Amino acid sequence: MSVRDMLDEPRIVDTHAHQPTAEFLEDAGGEMMRDAARKFGTEIETWEYETMREEYHEQGIARAVLLGWDAETNTGNPPVPNDYVAEVRDEFPDFFVGFGSVDPLKDDCVEEAVRCVEDLGLSGFKFQQIAQGFDPSDEAHRDLFDTIEDLGVPVVFHGGNSTLGAGAPGGRGLKIKYGNPMLVDDVAAEHPEMPILIAHPAFPWEREQLAICQQKGNVYMDLSGWLPKYVDEQVVHYAKTVLQDKVMFGTDYPMIRPERWFESFDEVFDASDAVQRKILWENAESFLGL
Ligand SMILES: [Zn+2]
Repeated sequence: MSVRDMLDEPRIVDTHAHQPTAEFLEDAGGEMMRDAARKFGTEIETWEYETMREEYHEQGIARAVLLGWDAETNTGNPPVPNDYVAEVRDEFPDFFVGFGSVDPLKDDCVEEAVRCVEDLGLSGFKFQQIAQGFDPSDEAHRDLFDTIEDLGVPVVFHGGNSTLGAGAPGGRGLKIKYGNPMLVDDVAAEHPEMPILIAHPAFPWEREQLAICQQKGNVYMDLSGWLPKYVDEQVVHYAKTVLQDKVMFGTDYPMIRPERWFESFDEVFDASDAVQRKILWENAESFLGL
């Protein structure tokens, strides 16, 4: 029996969810999202937040971090606006934790970061360095990260390769080097008060990611974006042992749905109940201050 079956009420926290609506999948995603769908042989479908919440509650998930998206300068696609993320959060305040997104290539990114926290009450930030086309270790972004550290909120950075633009000539111009977690190590070293979550097993740089999570007290990782059966064995081993206080559950909804993720987790993880509780909700509760 898994710890999920023992829950009287939903308790699990999904640290990584996108909108199952056109705002993310069609508008912000554009052609690069259609490439990803083609690659996996799926159609892009959209549905309502109420449906998402019901699906999550059935799976024992109480909360989901809903991520903003602004890669407008690099991709030309419109953002999932921060005001929209805050609106959706306000409709489901017990369910969603809202994370904003600022485009580091825009002149007003520092002001927008402040507005996200102080005016919109968003709980953190998400960066997708490949889609946004920037190197987080570049001095040019120092002011933005200093400001976010002062705001006292956590930050999610993308980790590893991306399926966006997959198979298209030139990958639609997206550069996967920006997904190397070693670039985030610089940010973590220079901003020790900033809690950082490197999203996804960072293929093909999982070992670098594990090393950073071990060495930097302020760096964590999640298991989103991959079914557990495809996750590198060393990541699974570390998640059960030395990094059991650092690794968190995440889906990358709606690309991966919780039921499928949990099925695969049960097949390959064989972790103790105590470790499962840490991965599924305890680590996220303390990282997010829930
Ligand atoms: Zn994602």
